[in-house]
Amino acid sequence: MTLRVEDLQVLFEVGDRVRFPTADGTLTGTVEKLNPARARVRCGADVWTVPYAGLDHASGASARERGERAARLKDVAANARALMDRNGLHAWSFRFGNARQKLGECRAKEKLIVLSRTHATQGAPDDVADTILHEIAHALAGPEAGHGPAWKAIARRLGATPASRAHESDAARRTREAARAGFRAGDTVEFTGRGEVRTGVIERMNPKRAKVRSGDTVWFVPYPRLRPIRRSRPRE
Ligand SMILES: [Zn+2]
Repeated sequence: MTLRVEDLQVLFEVGDRVRFPTADGTLTGTVEKLNPARARVRCGADVWTVPYAGLDHASGASARERGERAARLKDVAANARALMDRNGLHAWSFRFGNARQKLGECRAKEKLIVLSRTHATQGAPDDVADTILHEIAHALAGPEAGHGPAWKAIARRLGATPASRAHESDAARRTREAARAGFRAGDTVEFTGRGEVRTGVIERMNPKRAKVRSGDTVWFVPYPRLRPIRRSRPRE
């Protein structure tokens, strides 16, 4: 299993000292930003955008770590491929994705399973395997099944945790729970819906989205997108 060009992004981090060839010789600089295909590298007063394939770590320690991360990615990809084949998903493809909030994704129309590259290199191996099986269960159950009983039965049979939260990274869950803790049913809130600022009252606090009534319309709004206007009752 070979790594795709975009998978090389995971081999670098902001702040890494790197070197790369230019027409005027090799330059050394510091990674400022990791864009999908290229890194932004600062060399003194100049900024370069360099494709990952052309970048090398400037220190031996980083180069070693780079090798370990690349090996880990290859292992995870090979394991995903083997698990997919064992479950009859020969016609499906696997690849790594850039998402940090979503650990994995099953795209039925494209017959594609995507795994977060960050999760693959930084997650505990058991968690990463669990995410792969979670997505395989989606592939087998079909998109209509959602996280319902049919999907759960397949997830259990495969040995995956039959819980929907497996898509969400810990960081994303903490952000969502912190935002949710700031509201309660009955609060008056402001949010942007279809490009307009709207005011409504929270009717129900679902785990991920608040059910908000605004006039005759009900909206389901993620907590980080709500702004408090008036509390349902004074807080002590
Ligand atoms: Zn799922």
